Order: sequence, then structure tokens, then C-alpha cells
Amino acid sequence: MGITAIRGFNDILPSEIGKWQFVEKTAREVFEGFGFSEIRIPILERTELFARGIGEATDIVEKEMYTFIDKGGSSLTLRPEATASMARAYLEHQLYTFDPVAKLYCIGPMFRYERPQKGRYRQFYQIDAEVFGVGNPVVDAEVILMLIHFLGKVGLEKLELQINSLGCRDCRPRYREGLKNYLTKKSFQLCEDCQRRLQTNPLRIFDCKVQTCQEAIADAPRVTDFICAECQSHFGKVKEYLSVAGLNYVLNPKMVRGLDYYTRTAFEVVSYDLGAQNAVTGGGRYDNLFQEIGELDVPGIGFAIGMERLISLLPKDKKLEQQLHLFIATPGKGMDEKAYRLANQFHLEGIRAEFDYEGKSLKSQMRRADKLKARYVLILGEEELKKGRAVLRNMWNQSQEEIPIDNLIDVLKRKILNN
Ligand code: AMP
Repeated sequence: MGITAIRGFNDILPSEIGKWQFVEKTAREVFEGFGFSEIRIPILERTELFARGIGEATDIVEKEMYTFIDKGGSSLTLRPEATASMARAYLEHQLYTFDPVAKLYCIGPMFRYERPQKGRYRQFYQIDAEVFGVGNPVVDAEVILMLIHFLGKVGLEKLELQINSLGCRDCRPRYREGLKNYLTKKSFQLCEDCQRRLQTNPLRIFDCKVQTCQEAIADAPRVTDFICAECQSHFGKVKEYLSVAGLNYVLNPKMVRGLDYYTRTAFEVVSYDLGAQNAVTGGGRYDNLFQEIGELDVPGIGFAIGMERLISLLPKDKKLEQQLHLFIATPGKGMDEKAYRLANQFHLEGIRAEFDYEGKSLKSQMRRADKLKARYVLILGEEELKKGRAVLRNMWNQSQEEIPIDNLIDVLKRKILNN
């Protein structure tokens, strides 16, 4: 084989693209309905944005970033996530001068140097939504409600919303210390990575998949037993507002999320159809991120949905496959100019039509129409044309009728575009 794609980097082929477009379209509709606007941010940023924003002691910054020095000597990184970039854009363009509350979403590829496996790639797509400028717990519930509504709208089932509170800058260090003390006594059970995490970021040990680490952490102290009164009250209100909106949730005190910037509310939606990589989406509040990357103190909350994982869960739906509406078949002997002219007219009306470029036999054209899953075949037979008519064959039920050439477009538009 010639040159192939890089490991962990995928092509999304035409046969799959219908699902991607459907998911993106639904996200735009749902999010814009909730008052969010799209923002597009660069794929490359200065490395320090992620190092400071996401946190030096996170897996992403420690070992997963695609970082390189460009020809001008600057250290640049392919974005591993979108929140830090969106926050940078909010600060850089002073979006807060227009309105302190910004509700933004962004769809695009992210890059992480992870070990590729099913559901985990080096380039993957995320749909991100963020609210900047509101600390009120009601917005935590609003964002989660929007997420669940979106997931339902694309047709996902068997989902579970898990929530936790991670405390704030004042109370989290106490928990960190408590956890560190507890795990230090069990450090002989920890893998090499977790031995290091114990010193740098003990909360990350919750995410380790190694069996002995899981056992060491099983009965560890819970973050919710350590959080301060304000964080308790914030969490209590989030739960209350979720219940008001009729949302069921499960408390998961072991869900700590991978990134340092999370404070207070953290949430994940997991699917029991996904196996090991079961989180379809994760998010939370990050009230310290803005201070890490700029000078303003702006609260924020948001989530990122992994598109590959989401798409792998979509119910099979025939309508999501892009479909050829019409194949124009001609009786052969070179490319037929009539077919070319008709195809152009159809295309201008939004009817997806194909025809034969090579003067193949009618039989082979019919075979191609079948392979392309054309819904109709229009046969421009000489005898029928003399009478100003053409044969329209419905490939779904194999029925056939003659229709007048004059109002071909109207008839086909009615048949194809209206259902
Ligand atoms: P995170 O930004 O790590 O909170 O991840 C948010 C979501 O992005 C996850 O729930 C996954 O669905 C998806 N995701 C994260 N990393 C990967 C990856 N390497 N490959 C595919 N999807 C990913």
C-alpha cells in the first residue's frame, strides 16, 4: 500500500458522513435554541495557554500534547480541547464588554497523543458548549439540561447522568491532603504513574485503570465530605434545579475529571453500550481558569461531547445515509447530452442525480443505479422520447410509470423532495 494515514487519525468517509452532519446540525439547532452562538477558534495556540489553563500536572499537558517549535522559535500546540481557547478568545476580544454572559459553542477536531484504541484516537472531534460569566448554580442545571436534551434528540438511549462536586480553591486543597495521606499508606499498591500522581495530583488516581490502583482508592475519602459550606450549598442547589427540570442523576463521588481547572460541579454522561471508554461527554464548572490565563475573574461552566463515541451509539437510521435521488439511464452509444442537460437542471433544483459518462449498456447503467442505491431511475428510451415521455422506475418497490418530459422537474420534486 502507498502512503497511509497516521495512526489514531481517521478519515470520515462519505458512507458515514450523514451521521456526522446530522449530529452537527442537531447540535446547532438545540444549542442556538438555548441562546448559544457558534465561535470558531484556531487549531494552533501558544503552548502556555494549555499549560496554564489545563494545568501542568494533568495527563494532557504532561504527555498528550502535540507540541512543536515553529520556524519563528515559538512553542505551539495543536489544541487538545477547546475551553481554554474559547476563554482566551472571550478575554482577547473583550466579549464581556458586550454582555458579561457569553454562551458559546464550537465544533471541531482536537488532538491528543494518546494510545489509540477503539473510542480513543489522536485526532478526534468534540462539540463544546460553554457559559462564561455566571456563577449561579442555576446555569449548571441549564447546561446539563441542554446536554441531555441534545443527546435525546440525536436518539441516544441507556444513558446515565453522573454528577459530583469538586470543591473550590479553598476546600479542594484540604481534600487533596486528606487523599494524599490516605493513599500514602497504600502507596505500595500504586502503579508507577500513580506513585508520581500521588505527589503531583493525587485526584488523578481515581481515573487510573490499573486494578491495584482501583483497589487502593476504593474506600478513599470522598471529596463531598471535605467541601466547604458554600460549595455544599452550590451543589445542593444544582441538584434541586436538576430535579425541578425533571432530570435524574446519580452521585458519583469518584468522578474527578482529568483537568485541573474544574471547580464545584463536575458531570459526565456515560453509556452502558460503550465498554471501557464509556464517557460520551464530560464537563463541569471552572471558576479558576480565567485567572490562570488572564487577569479577570470570570466563572465558567461547559461540556465537551466526543463525536466519535456519540456517533458509535446512534441508532441505525436509513435516512442518515446520503442517498442518490435519481439515476438517468440512457440507451448507450457515448455520453448522452440530454442526460447531461437534465442532470444540470435537477442539480439546480436540489435533486441528487447521476448519469452515465461512458456510453455503457443500459444493463450496466441499471446495475450502477442499483449499487448507488438510487431511489428512482429515469430511463430516456428513444420510443418514449418520441412521444414526449420518459419511464420513471421506483427502485424501492420496482414499480414503473411513464411521465411527460415537460413537467419532469415538477413531478420529481414532488416525489423526491417532499418525502
Ligand atoms: P475531555 O475533554 O477529556 O473531558 O473529554 C470529553 C469527551 O471527549 C469524552 O467524553 C470523549 O467522548 C471524548 N474524548 C476525549 N478524548 C478522546 C480521544 N482520545 N478519542 C476520542 N474521543 C475522546
